[in-house]
Parts: sequence; C-alpha cells; structure tokens
Amino acid sequence: HAKKKGRNNFQFYTDSLSNDMVRRLQVETGLRRALERDELSVVYQPKVDLETRMVVGAEALLRWRSTDLGDVSPTEFVPVAEETGLVVPIGEWVLRAVCKQIKAWLDEGLPPVRVGVNLSARQFRDQGLAETIKGILRDTGVQADLLDLELTESMLIENANEAIEALWSLKNIGITLSIDDFGTGYSSLSYLKRFPIDALKIDRSFIMDIPASEDDMAITQAIIRMASSLGLKLVAEGIETEDQAEFLRVNNCELGQGYLFSRPIDHNNMAALLADGFMPPEVILAKRSAVA
Ligand code: C2E
Ligand code: MG
Ligand code: MG
Ligand code: MG
Repeated sequence: HAKKKGRNNFQFYTDSLSNDMVRRLQVETGLRRALERDELSVVYQPKVDLETRMVVGAEALLRWRSTDLGDVSPTEFVPVAEETGLVVPIGEWVLRAVCKQIKAWLDEGLPPVRVGVNLSARQFRDQGLAETIKGILRDTGVQADLLDLELTESMLIENANEAIEALWSLKNIGITLSIDDFGTGYSSLSYLKRFPIDALKIDRSFIMDIPASEDDMAITQAIIRMASSLGLKLVAEGIETEDQAEFLRVNNCELGQGYLFSRPIDHNNMAALLADGFMPPEVILAKRSAVA
C-alpha cells in the first residue's frame, strides 16, 4: 500500500517538475523577444508622506504583457531575466524609459518627482553600469538626483569591498541609493554605516501583520530608530490599512508606499496624481519647521 502511494507521489512530482521546466522555458523564450516586440511597460507606485499624505515620489515597476503567455508577474520573469543575463538590456531599457518619463512629466509642467528603479544583482555587478546611467541622464536631460536606485542587502553583503566601490561610482553621478526589502536579507548592520546609502525601505513582511504582531511592531520601531540615528530616510512598503499607516506615522516613519494609498498605476494616472497631490520634499520640510 505504502509503496503504491510512494509511486504516485513520484509520478506527481515528475509531472509538476516538467510542467515547471516547460513554463520556465516559455518565459525565457518569450523574454528574449519581449523588447523587440514592445511588450514591456513601466507602472508607477506613489511614495507618500505619512504626515501629509502628499505624493513625494514613486517607484517604477516593470510589467510584461507577453503575446504568447499573457501578463507575467515580475516575481516570475525577473529571476529568469537575471539567470539568463537578459536583465542587463531589459534593465537598461527600464532606466531609459523612466528617465524619458520623468522628462515628459517635467515638460508637461508637473513638479519634479524622484523615481526609484529596482536594480538586479547582475546589473549592479556590470562594470559599465555607471557610464550607462550617465549616458541615459545626458540623453534624456534629467537631473541625476531625480533618479533613485533600489538595491537589496544581499547585493551589498556578497562582495562588500567591490560593492562599496560600485556604490560610490553611482553615488558620484548624483543619484540616490536605497536598500529595498530591508530586514529580509542577511543584515550586517555595521555595513550600513560604510555604504553611501540614502534610504531604507522596510520590507512588507514586517508591515503586513501590524497591529496584530507585537514582534513586528517592535522590529519596525527598532528599524525606524536605527535609520533615524544613522541619518537615513525611511520608506515603509506594503501599507494596506489605516492602522498600519497610523502606527508608522506616530512612530516617526516618514514615507510609505502601499495599496492603501495607491496600487502601481500607468504614467497618465501618475501625472494626474502629481498634478493635484504633489509637494516636493523640501516644501514639506519647510512647512514642518514653520509649524514647529
Ligand atoms: P519590490 O521592489 O519590493 O516592489 C514592491 C512590490 O510589492 C511590487 O510588486 C508592488 O506592486 C507590490 N506592492 C506594493 N504595495 C503593496 C501592498 O500594499 N500590498 C501588497 N501585497 N503588495 C504591494 P511587483 O510589481 O509584482 O514587483 C515584484 C518585484 O519584482 C519587485 O519587488 C522587484 O523586486 C521586482 N521588480 C519589479 N520591477 C523590476 C525592475 O524593473 N527591475 C528589477 N530588477 N526588478 C523589478
Ligand atoms: Mg523595489
Ligand atoms: Mg521592495
Ligand atoms: Mg519587496
């Protein structure tokens, strides 16, 4: 009896394994054509000042509508792009698309908005990255400080000395740098001081169980205090409820992102938000110090 069950499990395992392999191959094949077929696009999720609820920036998120596969999530195709090296040309396309968009918003008379772009490990290791970004900023006529790059902890920890050099080559262009999904990687806190980082983004996994989880609230408070004493800006990811936003606000977390404020939206909807809900960070700071 047990033997039969075992064989069935094995059968099931090989079937699902080969299904996964077929899908993986379809994604890879499709991705090779995605750029030339014009199947990629960028959506924007607003970053919001938790005190005023004003939009102060955005994160660019890549979307792929495949002719053959339909919509494919970046959580599925970004790792494939990373493994195959396709993430280098695709990532460069994203950076250029975002800079063109920043310029287009400015040309429409909208206030300047800083946009965060996710960087993959492969792109970060690429020796030509800083020059590529300089070229894109030059071509599009975008000020460097309107571009923020989101990196993950693992990209920095793996080869710390090389990472510091790479970070400085980016920093010297005048762009800002953030650590994404903060708290989920192997966090060597002492590195934070050595890296020329501007902001931390607390991972959604710490936010989602607030206020039910006492532990997550304690961890979040500790990260907020640490960021503040290191002089780093802080963004909370994945805010879905008013309770979460309020907890973060009273604990002095400055910025947030999440479905509570807005899902990722296309550039037209983002333009509409910027037109009536935008206030540059300096204005908010000035307003705050005027009140204090
Ligand atoms: P991420 O950079 O941590 O981006 C945040 C993800 O959380 C996005 O998923 C966003 O849509 C989602 N999100 C935002 N607010 C909420 C919320 O309130 N609740 C929930 N449940 N989710 C929320 P998305 O767009 O599917 O992207 C997933 C990941 O794919 C990103 O995680 C990032 O690591 C990667 N990715 C996306 N675009 C790019 C890109 O252009 N380049 C690279 N290298 N990676 C990208
Ligand atoms: Mg991100
Ligand atoms: Mg993130
Ligand atoms: Mg995340």
